[in-house]
Amino acid sequence: MKKTALGGQAVTAGEVKSFINGAFVSGAGPSVPLIAPHTGQSYGSYRVATAGQVDEAVKAARAAMRGPWRTMPMQERLALLYAVAERIEQRFDEFLEAECQDTGKPHSLARKIDIPRGAANFRIFADTVKNVPDEAWHMETPDGRGALNYTVRKPKGVIAVIGPWNLPLLLMTWKVGPALACGNAVVVKPSEETPTTTALLGEVMNEVGMPEGVYNVVLGPGGDTGAALVANPGIDAITFTGSTATGQRIMAAAAVGVRDVSLELGGKNPGIVFADADMNAAIEGTMRSVFANCGQVCLGTERVYVERPVFEEFVDRLKAGAEALVMGDPKDSCTTLGPLISAAHREKVLSYYKLARQEGATVVTGGGIAEGLPEACAGGFWVRPTIWTGLSEDSRVQREEIFGPCCHVTPFDDEDEAVHMANDTPYGLAAAVWTTDASRANRVAAALDVGICWVNSWFLRDLRTPFGGARQSGIGREGGHYSLEFYTELENVCLKL
Ligand code: NDP
Repeated sequence: MKKTALGGQAVTAGEVKSFINGAFVSGAGPSVPLIAPHTGQSYGSYRVATAGQVDEAVKAARAAMRGPWRTMPMQERLALLYAVAERIEQRFDEFLEAECQDTGKPHSLARKIDIPRGAANFRIFADTVKNVPDEAWHMETPDGRGALNYTVRKPKGVIAVIGPWNLPLLLMTWKVGPALACGNAVVVKPSEETPTTTALLGEVMNEVGMPEGVYNVVLGPGGDTGAALVANPGIDAITFTGSTATGQRIMAAAAVGVRDVSLELGGKNPGIVFADADMNAAIEGTMRSVFANCGQVCLGTERVYVERPVFEEFVDRLKAGAEALVMGDPKDSCTTLGPLISAAHREKVLSYYKLARQEGATVVTGGGIAEGLPEACAGGFWVRPTIWTGLSEDSRVQREEIFGPCCHVTPFDDEDEAVHMANDTPYGLAAAVWTTDASRANRVAAALDVGICWVNSWFLRDLRTPFGGARQSGIGREGGHYSLEFYTELENVCLKL
C-alpha cells in the first residue's frame, strides 16, 4: 500500500490501525487476528482500541469542531469531499483488494458496487448540501413592521458511526459522506470482522488535507469498543447500521444524554411474483436479491411469494440458477458466490438449514456446507445456496432474518393473500414486486409496509431518494436531502424588522 505523507499507514506488518486525530495508532487492548472468510486463514490482525482511546478519538473530534473545520467555507469543505471521492477512485484497486480480503466477496461484485459507491457517497452528499435551499418566512406583526424568520442548518457535532461487515465501505461512507458534508466530525467503529477499508480511508483523509480529528476510526468488538463509543458523553448523535437487537441496545444507550439516533436495521424482505410477470426478469432479479453477497444484504429477499400458475416453473428455474452459481477464489472472474463472513455466522446459517428440515421444509436445493471447492478455499466459511418450499408462515425460518444465501418460496392465489403474507412480519425494510400490470404494481407497492419497494427490479438506487426501514427495520431515512435531517440541527432565527 502507498505511504501517506502524514500520520503513517493504515496497515503495517499486517496490523490494521485505528486512526485518531490524523495519526494511525495501535489499539492498547489485545491483538485480534483477522480471518479471511474464503480460506479461514489469518491474514493479519488489529489491536482493540480501549475506552481511553475511544475517549481520545472523541476529544480529537470535538477539538476539530472548534478548529478550522468549523469556520471553513462550505465550498472549501465540499472540495475536500470531492477530493476524497477522487482519491478513492485513484486507489480503487487497493480498496478493492482490502474489501475482498476482509469479506471474501467476489472481486467482480465489489468492483461494480462496493468501491464505486464508496466514492459516490462523498460526491452525492457534497452535491446535495450545495443544492438544498434554506427556508425563510416573512410574518406580520401588530406594529406593522413585520419580522423575517430564516432557518440556519448547523452541524450536529460529533457523530458516532457504527457499521456492519456485509458492505463495509459502502455503508460506512453512506454515513460519513453526509456527516462531513454537513460539517460534523466523526468517530467510526467498523465491524471487527472488516476494519481495513475504514482504516484505509484515514490515509485518503490525510492525503487530501482533511483537518486532523474530523475523521477518526476506533477498532474493536461491538460489545467493548462500540459500547464505549456510544456511551461516551462527547458523542452528539449515533448513526448505526446492523442488527435489530444491537440497534435496540444503541437506542437505549442514546437515551442517556437525549442523543439522536439513526437506525438501519434488519429485514425479512418479501418478493412477490405475479403470473403476468416477465419471468426472465423475475428469475434474474430474484436470483440477485437472494444470493448477491451470499445473501448478506439487508435488502435481500428471504421470502418469495409466487402466484400458483407459475409456482412450479419459478421454483424449477430458481433451483437451476442456484445450482449454476460458482463458488471459489474471490479474484477469479468466474466466481459468482462468496463465503459467509465468519465461522460464527456460518454456524448461525447452518442452524437455520437444520431448523428448516425440523420445521418440515422441502429442500429444493442446497441445505448444507459447500463441498468440492478449490483447495485454497477448503477452510473457508462456505455454504450451499439453498431454496425451501412447504413451510408455514409462522415457522421460525419464515419469520427470522437468516442473512445467508437462502430463501423460501410460497405459492399464493390472489393479490390480497400475497400482500397479507408479505406484511406479516415485524420488519419493514424492502420488497420486490414482479408484474407487468402497472395498476397492480402501484396498488401492491402502496399496500406493502416497507421503506423501499422495487417493481420489476432490485437494488436499483438513486442516491437522492429516501432509504430506510419501517417497523423494526429502523428509524429515520438516509439519502439525498433526507440525510441532512439527521446530520444537521436546525435553528430558526426570527429577525424583527
Ligand atoms: P451487528 O448488529 O452484530 O453489528 C453491527 C455493528 O455494531 C458492528 O460494528 C458491531 O461490532 C457493532 N456492535 C455490536 N454490539 C454493539 C454494542 N453493544 N454497542 C455498539 N456497537 C455494537 O450486525 P452485523 O454486523 O451482524 O450485521 C448484520 C445485520 O445488519 C443484519 O441484521 C442486517 O440486516 C443489518 N443490516 C442492515 C442494513 C440496513 O440498511 N437496514 C444494511 C446492512 C446490514 P462488531 O461486529 O465488531 O462486534
